[in-house]
Amino acid sequence: MSLLGKGAPKITVVGAGLAGLTAAYRLQESGYEVHVFEARHRPGGRVLTAQLGGSYEELGGKNFSDGGTVENSLKLIHELGLEILEDERPYFMSSCYWKHDCSLSEILRKLKSPEMLANELPEIAAHSRNLQEVIDTAFEDPDVRLIFTLVMRSYEGSDLKSLDPSNFDSIYGFLMNCIKAMKKADKGQILTVTWLTLKGGNAQLPLALSEKLKNKIHYNHVLRALRNENDKIILNFNHQKEISADLVLLAIPCPVLKDIDFGPKTIPHEQLSRIRSIQYGKNGKVLFPFSIENPSYDFFLSPEAIGWLNHDHRIMTFYYGVQPDTFTAQTAQSHFHQGMHVMRAMYPSLTLETTSLREARDQQLASYDGAVFKSWIDDPFSKGSYSNRAVGTAGWLSETEKCHGEKVRTAFRPVDDKIFFAGEHTTILDAMGTLEGAIESGERMARLMNKVVRESSGIA
Ligand SMILES: Cc1cc2nc3c(=O)[nH]c(=O)nc-3n(C[C@H](O)[C@H](O)[C@H](O)COP(=O)(O)OP(=O)(O)OC[C@H]3O[C@@H](n4cnc5c(N)ncnc54)[C@H](O)[C@@H]3O)c2cc1C
Repeated sequence: MSLLGKGAPKITVVGAGLAGLTAAYRLQESGYEVHVFEARHRPGGRVLTAQLGGSYEELGGKNFSDGGTVENSLKLIHELGLEILEDERPYFMSSCYWKHDCSLSEILRKLKSPEMLANELPEIAAHSRNLQEVIDTAFEDPDVRLIFTLVMRSYEGSDLKSLDPSNFDSIYGFLMNCIKAMKKADKGQILTVTWLTLKGGNAQLPLALSEKLKNKIHYNHVLRALRNENDKIILNFNHQKEISADLVLLAIPCPVLKDIDFGPKTIPHEQLSRIRSIQYGKNGKVLFPFSIENPSYDFFLSPEAIGWLNHDHRIMTFYYGVQPDTFTAQTAQSHFHQGMHVMRAMYPSLTLETTSLREARDQQLASYDGAVFKSWIDDPFSKGSYSNRAVGTAGWLSETEKCHGEKVRTAFRPVDDKIFFAGEHTTILDAMGTLEGAIESGERMARLMNKVVRESSGIA
């Protein structure tokens, strides 16, 4: 039953990823009739869980903790009655395979006065043109430099020369954790970190949200064009379908916005070109069944890939992005070979065959009997892994303003109180590119759209 009765506004959400689903769910809770249009046949967007080897693992977003204290995610997860899996593991540096004759900790011990370095980082960043320059200036030792370069490349999925020096905050985080880990190791202790995922896979969250929005999600609807006409927003989808709406929330990744025709005036030219210019990483994953009891390492780091074992040690993930060249369907097999090469060095006593590799289906919780990959740059509805701050974008990306009492990033300021933006790229937290960022943006946009409707209807 609509809160606003007969003249209730038609609200349309485009994109059934975590941002769009969260917003639609909240708006529905507030009494609005909301319709969600989604290009794929499934909910979840860049959350995609696969089942293999009698277990499950993520092909997209995995660790909620990447978003910091994740208040928004935890609140939503608990409300929906889902269960969190807290996977406490030794910090990366303490349990990572680097080379058979040298450990990662040994290399990082070469860091001279790391605390002083941490203090100097902002100054170094202020005088650098890009993130690679920050690393090259900050770290003298070539091995340490290589490790930081590989970690940051895999974290952002982009060549560090393309990243703004203000991304040094990620280096700072890694450095501080290394310092903590070294101090603990000196006392014979191990620093642990907790990875937060959902029991049964992160797919549980979009599936639960879509259950709440039953019959209101229209799959296989690819937005092709959007225009503002006589006070209505007209949306054109594939199959020549056209609908009109009073309020639209665009909860789709920026690279995909390049494929949508907005006409000359719907969104101010400068705003649209800025949004479309936001850079996305090129990360991809290979998952393969690899059961091992009491593994000597939880992670590996190599110039080919970075990898980890899942919570029950039954699936190995190769996470590509450390190399500047792109992980696509064409290169997947050769990248996989390189990853397996590292695995053989890591476990010399095991016979590891490079099995065939299949492309993941675009389906939540699909089962596979062997290795499977997902290239996000190849995916037509994401065209990249997640947003990052490219050189020259950090300034305007950090600008915020108030809109009906809610904070918004200026680049994603609503247009005419009719077109709104959500998605990890729009978050006001320091958590661009995360699950928490997506959920936060959805919660905030639902509040904002609710206020806009109420104010325009004279409801305080
Ligand atoms: C490989 C990888 C690893 C990651 N690891 C982590 C991690 O460990 N921790 C973390 O916090 N985050 C991680 N992330 C990021 C996290 O997954 C994303 O930030 C989050 O899922 C984005 O949600 P979203 O709703 O903003 O966008 P999306 O999930 O991309 O949702 C957008 C939706 O819009 C749809 N769409 C696109 N175009 C159209 C169109 N034209 N018409 C209609 N619908 C359209 C898409 O199909 C999609 O369903 C990772 C992402 C990837 C790819």
